[in-house]
Order: sequence, then C-alpha cells, then structure tokens
Amino acid sequence: MNPELYPQSFRRKLLSWYRRHRRDLPWRHTNDPYRIWISEVMLQQTTVAAVIPYYRKWLQRFPNVTALSKAPLQSVLSVWQGLGYYQRARNLHAASRIIVERHQGRIPADYSTLIKLPGFGPYTTAAVLSIAFDLPYPVLDANVRRVGMRLRALRTASTAKSDKLLIDVLTPLLPHNHIGQFNQALMELGSLVCRSQDPSCLVCPVIEFCKAYSAGLQEIIPPPKRQTFKRISAVIAVIEKEGKYLIQQRPPTGLLAGLWEFPGGKLEPGETPEQALKRELEEELGVLLTDQDLQLHPRNLKHLITVKHAYTQFQVTLHAYSCRLTELPPLKKSKYRWVTLKGMQRFPFPSGSAKVIRFLQNQKRPASL
Ligand code: SF4
Repeated sequence: MNPELYPQSFRRKLLSWYRRHRRDLPWRHTNDPYRIWISEVMLQQTTVAAVIPYYRKWLQRFPNVTALSKAPLQSVLSVWQGLGYYQRARNLHAASRIIVERHQGRIPADYSTLIKLPGFGPYTTAAVLSIAFDLPYPVLDANVRRVGMRLRALRTASTAKSDKLLIDVLTPLLPHNHIGQFNQALMELGSLVCRSQDPSCLVCPVIEFCKAYSAGLQEIIPPPKRQTFKRISAVIAVIEKEGKYLIQQRPPTGLLAGLWEFPGGKLEPGETPEQALKRELEEELGVLLTDQDLQLHPRNLKHLITVKHAYTQFQVTLHAYSCRLTELPPLKKSKYRWVTLKGMQRFPFPSGSAKVIRFLQNQKRPASL
C-alpha cells in the first residue's frame, strides 16, 4: 500500500501505535515552546537517556527565555558541560537574547522569523512549530529520514535531493491536527522499531506501507556512511599551587571555543608526550624545562593519567602530567585563572579535560577507613 494513496489509514495506524508505545519523556508533558525548543536542541546528536538529566538541570537554572537571556554565557556553558557540540548552547543563549529584545520574550510562531534565529535550522524550526504550535511542518531528523527512505525504498545515500523528496512525501501525510504528535510518532518509530540495525518490522504499525520491507531491502537502506575519524594526541600540564590549579580559556572562536582547559597542546609528529609538554610550557607559559632539570628532579614532571574522548569529528587521547614549577612568569588575567578543584564546577570544560578533573578529585578524596 502506498501511504500517499491511503494517508488516513497510515496516520491512524501510526498515531494509535504512538499512543500505546511512546516513552514517557519529560518534554512530552508540555506544549511550552521554550521547553520543546530546549529538548529538541539537546536531543540533536545525543541520546534520550543522556539528555534527561541535562534537560531537568537546565530548566531549574533557566526556567524560561528571559532567565536564559539574562544568564552569563559562562554559566550557560557550565550547565551544558558534557553534552558536547557547545555551539548549540551558544546559539540557545544568543537566540534567547534576540527573542527577549525583539519578540517580547515569546518564541515566534512563524517559520520565516524563527529560522533566522541562531541555531534554528529547518529541523529545529519545524519541530518547535509543529510540536508547540501544531503548525503543519514535517520534521526530518535521522530517525524520520531512515523511516521515510525505507517506506519509499530509496536506495541512494541521503542527500539534499532525497531530503527534499521526503519532505514532499511527508507534507501531504500530515494530519489536520495533532501534527506534533504525528511528527513525534515518526521519530519514535525510527527510534524504537525502525532502528538502523535490526529493524523490528514484524511489530511495525506501518509494515503494509513499507516498500523496503516488501522488497526485503530494509537492512541495506539507508546505505552505511563511511566515517572519517581524525585521531589527535595532546598533552596537558596539571600545575598546582597551594591547592589551586592553573587553567586557561580557549579562544572565542574555533574548536571548543570559549571553554576552559589545562595548559598544553597537540603532539607534533615524532614527539613524545614529555617533549610536547616541555615545548608547550615554553611556548604558552614561557617556562623553560631542560632535560637536565627533569633528570635531576624527575618528580617535576609526572604522568598522571591518559584519557580518551570522542568528539564530533575527532578522537583525542589526552596525556595528563603533573608539573611542579617553582616559578611562573606573569600570566594574563583575562586568559588564565588559579582555581580549586571544587571551583572548577563554575567553569565549562571539554569532556576530555573533565575526565582529568574527575581523576584529580578522586585522588584528593580521603581513602575510606
Ligand atoms: Fe521500518 Fe520495517 Fe516498518 Fe519498514 S516495516 S518502516 S523497515 S520497521
């Protein structure tokens, strides 16, 4: 059966399945556009289980657009810390300020206005408008894309052209009301039943509409993407003075912009972590550590831990060393801070550095009796 020819039957089956099987998630108890917006942005590239505690904490700290707009960016990034893709948090903050300044703190229920706000791409705009305002915009996230490609048995890689085709297919399928529920039902179907691997076709409510299933193609649609994952090794210096640690802020633009970290940097080709650390300390802080120094005082440079973390397009291996430095040249206050381990909670760190902080906290914790 073609869903375009039997849209009512398709909707009825999908929505009735959704009402019986949907997960009880905190953002499904509200029509508040602000809460829908926050959940949709958090859910991009992140699992539902990971988002729930962040969503709750965020709403406690920033319960509405005005509260978010008044918060300093550093507080916003701190609450976001660990969710990754920090640009999303920056965009939420920037958009909240525009909404307060130009729209009296109300999220505009209009596609052309909303899509101009920072972070509002076609997906977020359609999701907020359909779920919060019940406006007729289909959503196309990874789950819906997969369901749509399978329903239509599209064997091509996902492209702008195939997305346009799917939007054209989905638009006439939208119901007259409960549009947000219809969109969420498609997303939920992709997440729970029409999974990328091992789809549960036999319990699928729309199996009779699925061309991929009837042709036995559901396992190979969509074709797998080839992932290029860059690997980076970096070294960091944990410099402690009277219970405080030296941290520095990353530049305001570029990779992990504006976050805080321990001094250090990437290994050059052929360098050992120790050689890289000496070079970085000299280049960044103006501290000269000679080989002789290290041989005479080997405890000046001690390996603490090596952690790995995968970011969007690269994986980093971080070698952390404690560095005992007797003297440091004067440091710019705007870029560097001395902070206790407890005080670090107020600063947003990339997840790799956060693992090193947790290691330091565990080390300081008194052993249980
Ligand atoms: Fe996906 Fe299978 Fe349902 Fe088709 S029948 S939409 S492949 S779960």
